[in-house]
Amino acid sequence: MKNGAQYRKTLRQLRPNLFKWGKPLGDVTKNLATKLHVDAIAACYDAAFDPEQASLFTAESHLTGKRAHRWNTLMRSPEDVLANARMKRAQFQRTGACHGATCAGWTMLNALWAVTWEVDQARGSGYHARLERYFRYLEENGLATAGALTDAKGNRSLGAAAQPSIDSYLHVKEVREDGIVVRGVKAQICGVAAAHEIVCVPGGGLKEDEGAFAVAFAIPRDVEGLTVVETRRPSDTRDEEQGWDAPKAGGVSQAFLLFDDVFVPNERIFLQGEHEYAALFISIFTALYRAPIGACVAGQGDVMIGAAIELAQAAGLSQKTFQERLTRMAINNETTFGMGIGAIFNGKAHPSGLWIPDPLLSHVNKVLVATLPYENKRIAQEIGGGIVETGCFPSYKDLTSPLYGKALLDSLAAASDGETRARLARLLEWLTVGGGIPGCLNGGGSPDGARVVVRVLEPWKKFAEKARQIAGVK
Ligand SMILES: Cc1cc2nc3c(=O)[nH]c(=O)nc-3n(C[C@H](O)[C@H](O)[C@H](O)COP(=O)(O)OP(=O)(O)OC[C@H]3O[C@@H](n4cnc5c(N)ncnc54)[C@H](O)[C@@H]3O)c2cc1C
Repeated sequence: MKNGAQYRKTLRQLRPNLFKWGKPLGDVTKNLATKLHVDAIAACYDAAFDPEQASLFTAESHLTGKRAHRWNTLMRSPEDVLANARMKRAQFQRTGACHGATCAGWTMLNALWAVTWEVDQARGSGYHARLERYFRYLEENGLATAGALTDAKGNRSLGAAAQPSIDSYLHVKEVREDGIVVRGVKAQICGVAAAHEIVCVPGGGLKEDEGAFAVAFAIPRDVEGLTVVETRRPSDTRDEEQGWDAPKAGGVSQAFLLFDDVFVPNERIFLQGEHEYAALFISIFTALYRAPIGACVAGQGDVMIGAAIELAQAAGLSQKTFQERLTRMAINNETTFGMGIGAIFNGKAHPSGLWIPDPLLSHVNKVLVATLPYENKRIAQEIGGGIVETGCFPSYKDLTSPLYGKALLDSLAAASDGETRARLARLLEWLTVGGGIPGCLNGGGSPDGARVVVRVLEPWKKFAEKARQIAGVK
């Protein structure tokens, strides 16, 4: 395992292929656009050596039996998936933000564990043994993996093969004896700046003529031919400014990945052309991903509750004034967390060894995750007042201006000094209308997609039959 300093060192050794504002980002551990996110992941690495946190941030390896970073292991039991959820809540409580580099890629590899097992059973492809070797490599080197599923997609009413530009979907351009050449675009990928590796998977179910898009593989983040463009975010001012406008933790990182003829050696390919397994992958991945994400928004909601209480008190109002609304926020948080736990413990073991949460409850959770946190954001803004809601609040540079900074700060002073209110207002603004929003709505897939799964899985006819029986209707 690595500690935070060792992790940062390995990130600095990667080829600088990240860009933002039209320029190279350089050192991701120092550039203000990515530093806070890297810091958040570094804290997860340090947690492995903290006796109080180690049991959450590490797990027993399914391959070696040794302790490993949790995000390098297979989730084999409901307890393993629950620990993932608890780790996510702890991560969000520490930073208020998402931890892509210890999340999506890991879950994709877990889902691939089951899918490659099934392909091997049917066809003897050898993918599963490759994936096992790759897992071993991740564990031995303590690596962080981003996960790239979402394609640029082009026209949403057309399939991958029917797009005017084939590059709208990541695809195999050329098959060589020693590997494949891929090109296309993956969009809105979380945590790439803080990851050593990127796991790429199909973005949806695929048809027979879409075999070129049925490809799953892993690449180093700095592989030749890959350009990573960090997105512009509403949190930019918060992440990239100094002083009270910049937090101590909690930057998010999102990126577009431009694959310009990237070579992937055979050893790192886990699916290639098996279009009929793309839907199976999506169903396992979403069941496994959408159960624990209730803990992410719960963890962020915990910070929102804390910030709302503190800001109310700084304004001279007691917690009691807002207790009913704070309780509503807590109920929303525990609903997504608890629904996830329900999905986890209602799941079942796959013969490959992976534990798969109950898909119906996982997708119900996805819909709750896309809705309840927004009620919490509205309540937090009610409690915080206008300085939180609209961004109608001067910047750090103005609040510390030698010309008028003192007058501004004095005007903010209430039960606390002006600086305390300023800091808390910036945090709550970020959590409710800024970069703190990611992770809720489309992150992990659109809620409409989840609603479709609920519609398909719910036993409507059985319920109608029960009603007929009770009513005595023939
Ligand atoms: C914070 C955040 C983090 C993310 N992290 C990752 C990540 O780490 N890895 C990753 O792979 N992806 C990631 N994503 C991407 C995420 O998976 C997508 O945003 C999501 O799947 C929705 O896709 P889209 O944004 O292209 O929306 P669109 O496809 O444009 O969808 C917009 C709306 O149209 C609907 N729609 C789309 N197509 C159809 C259709 N054919 N018929 C009817 N309705 C349709 C959708 O349901 C949705 O309501 C992240 C997104 C966010 C916001």
